[in-house]
Amino acid sequence: MPKVCRLFASASGKGRRIWIDTMTRMADPANENSALAPCPRCGALVRDGVEGCFALFYEMSGHEYSDPAYGAVNLLSVDAHALQHPEDHGVKNNAFHLIRLCWLLEHNGDPRIGQGPGWLQQEFDGNAEVQALEPPLNRGGMTIAEVVGATSPEEHTERVYRWARSVWKA
Ligand SMILES: [Zn+2]
Repeated sequence: MPKVCRLFASASGKGRRIWIDTMTRMADPANENSALAPCPRCGALVRDGVEGCFALFYEMSGHEYSDPAYGAVNLLSVDAHALQHPEDHGVKNNAFHLIRLCWLLEHNGDPRIGQGPGWLQQEFDGNAEVQALEPPLNRGGMTIAEVVGATSPEEHTERVYRWARSVWKA
């Protein structure tokens, strides 16, 4: 199975359903001309609201998984998108991405696929008690819509860092 399919296969519950629904709808030519509108979570101009925003994210992840030069910033893009969509992830998941983004940006963590702090994973594999936080009103000045479409890995890396920093600052 290609890596990107394994990624989707491991997506759980709601995220997986959203992905399957979106892919089904996108395959329908009648939807090709639907208008761009802001994602109600992050404000990215996308088709099909939150679902379209997630579809864009899965498409970008697929690119990162298939090309290590793009995958060099995968953890940052995953955290940035997750934290701009806290309503679609569980409390524990949101806490995980927030702590990992802090590690990546404030402690120069390695954002490549498969990296990430082992202690954090261990902590969350157990019965970590996590406090629920209110979803933030300000979610950063940049969205996935401004990240996709980079013409080189360097440009992708620069855009993802800018995106992640805007989310972290928010
Ligand atoms: Zn969005």
